[in-house]
Amino acid sequence: MDNIEKLTQKFKEFPGIGERQAKRFVYFLLHKNPSYVKELGDEILSIKNKIKQCPSCYLFFQNDNFDLCEVCSSSKTDKTSLLIIEKDADMESIKKSKTYNGMYFILGGLVPIVTKDTPTFIRIKELLKTVEEKIKKDNLKEIVIALSLNPQGEHTDMYLREMLSPIINKYQIKIVSLGRGLSTGTELEYSDSETIKNAFKNRS
Ligand SMILES: [Zn+2]
Repeated sequence: MDNIEKLTQKFKEFPGIGERQAKRFVYFLLHKNPSYVKELGDEILSIKNKIKQCPSCYLFFQNDNFDLCEVCSSSKTDKTSLLIIEKDADMESIKKSKTYNGMYFILGGLVPIVTKDTPTFIRIKELLKTVEEKIKKDNLKEIVIALSLNPQGEHTDMYLREMLSPIINKYQIKIVSLGRGLSTGTELEYSDSETIKNAFKNRS
C-alpha cells in the first residue's frame, strides 16, 4: 500500500466519507503547499492535546483552568433539570434558542432498533451514574429526553425511559420528551430556535 492509499483509508473512516471523496482529499492535500499541510497536522494534534471532555455531561470543550465545562461549572445553571441529547452539536442548537437553562448529558449516539448489545452504542452506565449523583447532590427534579424524531430516536427514548424507571420511581423524578413539538424526521442539530422553543413548550 503506498502513502496515497494509506491516507485514503484514513479519510474513509470519517463519517459520511466514501472511497472517492477520501481520494479527493488526498489529492487536494498533494496540491497544497507544505506549510498548509503542516498546519493541518498541527491542528489535528492540538485538538487531542487541548480539548477536554467534561466528566459530567461529556461535552468536548477547551479551557485550561477548569475540568468541568462552562455549563456544568456555572452557578447560573439550573441544577434541577437534566436534558439528554445525542451529540455535541445538539447542545449548540439548544443553547442558541435560549429556552433552556439546565444541565445536559450527551448520550454519544442512538440505539439501533435491532441489536442485542445496546450499551455499546450509548453512555447508558454513565447516564445512570450521573442521574443518581445529580439527584443526591444537585436536587435534580426533571429529566428531559431530547432526541431526533425518527424511529431510532424514538426507540432510544423508550429504552432510556425503561432504564431510568427504577431510579425515577424511587426518587419521584419527572421525565418528559421533547418530541411532540418537533415534526417527524426532525434532527435537533438542524432545528431553528423557534422550533426548539415550541418543542420545550409542548414537552410531555
Ligand atoms: Zn459539562
